[in-house]
Amino acid sequence: MKLIFIFLLLCSFSGADGNVFICDSPNATAYHYKRDCRGLNNCKHEVKKTTVAEAEKIGLKLCGWED
Ligand SMILES: [Zn+2]
Repeated sequence: MKLIFIFLLLCSFSGADGNVFICDSPNATAYHYKRDCRGLNNCKHEVKKTTVAEAEKIGLKLCGWED
């Protein structure tokens, strides 16, 4: 039972690696792995931190400028 708990804990930690940045604009189409991505430099709105799952849920795709 303890092992399962540790496993779940590790999973939630690795989930933090799935964080991405999005421009909080109605015209935003992409999410970004890097806060200083050139695609985000054009953002005139607030830059928000979210997860890949959340970003894709609202219809965003991975930014074309990412490596
Ligand atoms: Zn980007």
